[in-house]
Order: sequence, then structure tokens, then C-alpha cells
Amino acid sequence: MSVGVYIQVPFCQTKCTYCNFHTGVVSRDRYEPYADAVCREITESVSVAAPSVDTVYVGGGTPSLLDPAALARILDTLRRTYSAEFSEITLEADPETITPHKAAAWFSSGFNRISLGAQSFEDRELQAAGRMHRREDIWRAVDILRAVGFRNISLDLIAGLPHQTRDSWEASVSQLLRVFPEHVSIYMLEIDEGSRLGRESLEGGSRYSADAIPSDDAMAEFYESASARLADAGYEHYEISNWGLSGRASQHNLKYWRREPYLGFGAGAHSFDGVMRWANVHEQARYVALIERGASAREQMETVLPLQAFHEEFFLGLRQLEGIDFERIARDYEPHLSNLILTVRERIASLRSSGFMQIEGERLRIAPDRLTVSNEVLVQLLG
Ligand code: SF4
Repeated sequence: MSVGVYIQVPFCQTKCTYCNFHTGVVSRDRYEPYADAVCREITESVSVAAPSVDTVYVGGGTPSLLDPAALARILDTLRRTYSAEFSEITLEADPETITPHKAAAWFSSGFNRISLGAQSFEDRELQAAGRMHRREDIWRAVDILRAVGFRNISLDLIAGLPHQTRDSWEASVSQLLRVFPEHVSIYMLEIDEGSRLGRESLEGGSRYSADAIPSDDAMAEFYESASARLADAGYEHYEISNWGLSGRASQHNLKYWRREPYLGFGAGAHSFDGVMRWANVHEQARYVALIERGASAREQMETVLPLQAFHEEFFLGLRQLEGIDFERIARDYEPHLSNLILTVRERIASLRSSGFMQIEGERLRIAPDRLTVSNEVLVQLLG
């Protein structure tokens, strides 16, 4: 089986108020040593290499800040190190960082998919969220990407940004449909202590406009409305947060939801070989220092035990609209978890009778009209 490769680039120009990722604003002088460290980590990983790599995803952070030559060097290192038959090579990009020169260089080095962090087409929402771009930048970025040849563009929106209203949300979705990207991701705003906005929302205050976050019900309504409009426009809803035109589902991200192997390189990158999971150190300066002196950047290595693997089959697999093959899972885990499987069968029956889950052929899935409460369904299912 071919594996996916994820490259983490943890640099941003500024910190968005809602962001809870391990990313930072650092001097541009750090970019080159970081890219060199990623190349070295790839080269030295070959002893644990899977036979071939078919998808690459360069995410962040804002990888489009790197010099295109550094990104090309990373891809070349992967080609030299692994048996690479790349079918999908994605670069995450922020709209304001895109220039014709960069886009042309990305395309010629092999990137064939761009994931554009649009988030909203309303300038007031973008500004309050601390984003650097405005709606004109999104249109300009898409025009540039199309002009140099990109035919697979993904656009993200966030439901629940401060100041978002029903009207402004519908306007953003309309603008997105006007752009008509091949792929769309819609995320619900996450409220937790990992972001300035999340903390303010939990503790009170208005500096980051936490007092202007739409209610949970409004967010769910935004999601449902966008889902219906995307379906009408010809997009297939294939994962809770993701829609694609025919054949445009993200091949790389499908590997995560299907528990297929992937290798991660860079600070904080995670890997899974089918049995073990591991993660690199988060702090980028420490990551570079470790790699430069020939040490491993890995930490948190763990063997995935049957109970955890069983839970992952549901937590990850049920994110897909096509669901999971429950009988296959029951067979695979029967030797270790026979009692738990019996319990889960009973819970599935109950969740089906109350309309939260469905079985179609061999596939068990969360009912499409209950996706906004998928976390609650999973808690009821797995306890
Ligand atoms: S949301 Fe994206 S662009 Fe904004 S700080 Fe986080 S990683 Fe960077």
C-alpha cells in the first residue's frame, strides 16, 4: 500500500485569533534552515520508509511563505528518497501570499492542488479574526492559480466567526460558489483554551469579539444551509467538513479517515505506520537543532493497542459520509474485544431506531441530517 507524506511548516505572518495550532511568527531567516532540516529528516528516515509515496500534503502554518525553491527542494528530496508515484501534491496557501511568480514555481515543481485558506468573504469577519487577507485577495489568488494551470483548488470557510450573521454567511457561500473551486472545506469554529478567541469566549470579554460569535444553533444552521447549497451546485459531501466535485475528494486526507499509513516530517508532524503512532517535537527551533546534530526529533511513540484502534475506526471512519464496514471491524477485533463489540451492536441498534445512525448495505454511517451532532453520537456509541 502506498503511504501519504505530510510536511509541516509551522510559520505564519501573524496569529489568527481563533487559531489553536502550534505555529509561530518568526524571522524569515529561520525558513531556510527549517527547510534544510525537513530535507535531512526525510533523507534519514529511509530505514522506516514505506515502499512508495502517492500523496503529499504540505500544511501549516502557512507553507506558502517559504521560498518556492525550498518547497521544490523538499519535493525533490522525497522523490529521491522514496519510490514516489505522486498522484496528489497539495500546498496550503494563504491568499495574500500568492504571486504569479510563486504560483508558477509551485506548479512547475509538481504541486497540483492548492488548499486556500479563505475562511470568509466578508472583510469585517476576516479583520476581526486577525486574518491578513481581504476578499479581493481571494479572487486575485484564484485568478493567479488558474492562470498558471492549477485545476484542483480547495477553499475553506469557517462557520461561526465573530460578526457572522445568517446574511453574511449566505453571502460568503455565494461568493465561494461563484469561484467554484473543485473542493470545499467548511469548519465549525472551535472554542477551546488553545486560542485567544476561545479563551475570551470561555472567560468573557470583547477584545477579540468573542461577544460577537454566533450561537451554536446559528452555526449548525450555517453548516446545514451550506451543505444544501453545495449539494445543489454539484458537490459531493464525502466527509463531515469536506465536499468535492466528482473525483476531487482529497486523496491524502482520506488516508487519515481510513487509518491508512502516513509519514509526517517537520516540527510537530505526526506519523502512523499501521501499528505505531509517533510525533515530532513541536517547537521548531528545537526540531531544527535536533536534526542538525543528527538526533531524532521523534517523541510520543506509542503502539496502538486494540481498544484504541477500535475507537479510531469509529472516530475517524464515521467522519466519512460513506461510513464504515462494521462487520469487517467486528471480525478484526473479535479476538480482543468480543464483549465490547456486543455492547456496541446494541448501541448501534438504539441509535438507528432514534434516527442517528443508518445502515446501507454493509456500511454503517451517521445519518446525514445528524452530522452537526456527530460528537454526541460517537460518545453514545463508544461510551
Ligand atoms: S489559522 Fe492558519 S494562518 Fe492563522 S495563525 Fe493559525 S495556522 Fe497560521
